[in-house]
Amino acid sequence: MENIIVQKYGGTSVGSVDKVKAVAKKIVNRKREGNHIIVIVSAMGNTTNNLIKKANQINSNPSSREMDMLLSTGEQISISLLAMAIETLKEKVVSLTGQQCGIITDCNHKKAKIEKIDNERIIRELKENKIVIVAGFQGVNRNMDITTLGRGGSDTTAVAIAAAVKAKKCEIYTDVDGVYTADPRFVPNAQLLDKISYDEMLELASLGAKVLHPRSVELARKFNIPLAVRSSFNDSKGTEIVEVNKVEKVLVRGISIDNEIVKIAVLEVPDKPGIAFKLFSTLAKNNIHVDMIIQNINRKSINDITFTVNNDDLKEALRIANEIASEIGAKSVIYDENVSKLSVVGTGIAGNSEVASTFFESLYDLKINIQMISTSEIKISCIIDKDGSLNAFQYLHDKFRLGNNIDTINEAI
Ligand code: ASP
Ligand code: MG
Repeated sequence: MENIIVQKYGGTSVGSVDKVKAVAKKIVNRKREGNHIIVIVSAMGNTTNNLIKKANQINSNPSSREMDMLLSTGEQISISLLAMAIETLKEKVVSLTGQQCGIITDCNHKKAKIEKIDNERIIRELKENKIVIVAGFQGVNRNMDITTLGRGGSDTTAVAIAAAVKAKKCEIYTDVDGVYTADPRFVPNAQLLDKISYDEMLELASLGAKVLHPRSVELARKFNIPLAVRSSFNDSKGTEIVEVNKVEKVLVRGISIDNEIVKIAVLEVPDKPGIAFKLFSTLAKNNIHVDMIIQNINRKSINDITFTVNNDDLKEALRIANEIASEIGAKSVIYDENVSKLSVVGTGIAGNSEVASTFFESLYDLKINIQMISTSEIKISCIIDKDGSLNAFQYLHDKFRLGNNIDTINEAI
């Protein structure tokens, strides 16, 4: 089937009855241009957060299965309301849950991964000339239990469906105009990027620039799905996420700040083979994503191992770290929530040492101590104290001259 466009509208885009009606018009217009349209929607406004609050008022540690059962309801409200709005515009439409459109995931509640999509139902509905509205963020596992894909996971539903139906494009509509050199809420002179590579976007997404769910970018790259991030409130072109050879090469494309991390340290660990393996393989088995790791030698045969995880995983990571610490005879486990991660991303970083030195110099200018550093081909990240991190973020943006015309970066350093 040809000419399929997948669109995704986020929570703020469908945050009120009027917004739902406006989105319905946008969708119908796109359909009347001669396309088949599949639309993925998130829960309206703050629905998901409110459901989480309610759950916690009843049970401080609810099971993941029941959380998924609860959270998946948010998206079902939006798909039905949006479908009703489209009905009033005299187009054929059908809303479908994750299960109804064949989204099968693994069994990891609250952060499930899509394993396959049986596209038969969607294609059948499209052939009947219907607009198909799909509940984002949800699927079912082999036992037909409802699962969710992790906060922000509707983006991933959209890209996965786009891949499953071989859509010509996946458009993500949101409350910002596209992807910026830095989060414009924190850096007012951040510049809108008209293009960014999958790899750069993946780094920025994983590093906490909340425009796209990281997994959605991974899938888009893997299946070569042209992805666009646009505003649902105007008609601007937004940002295209494309292969690296289609973007202009710059040293630094953008920067990001992540305040939702915690630093955990296992102190006085015996210095012998197998210790790190034991700790990190247990964390991995429990699906806890560990980001940065450092090991430093304290004194003879005794190390400290420090690593960072996402806020949401703190409880579980501490439980595991404490368990392993007593098994291996480490002294104690401590943690620090007052940390932020600052990162600089760009395809030009590989092979250019100036970027790192400019980064470190900026932090030195501000008398900020660097607690951890990590680097890859296209990014450099530093963990610093949370106090003052926002100021550092804005300072870095200026230092790399990202607020000016992006072409001048190469001359800036
Ligand atoms: N409603 C879910 C959330 O708030 C999924 C999404 O918005 O993508 O995380
Ligand atoms: Mg989102």
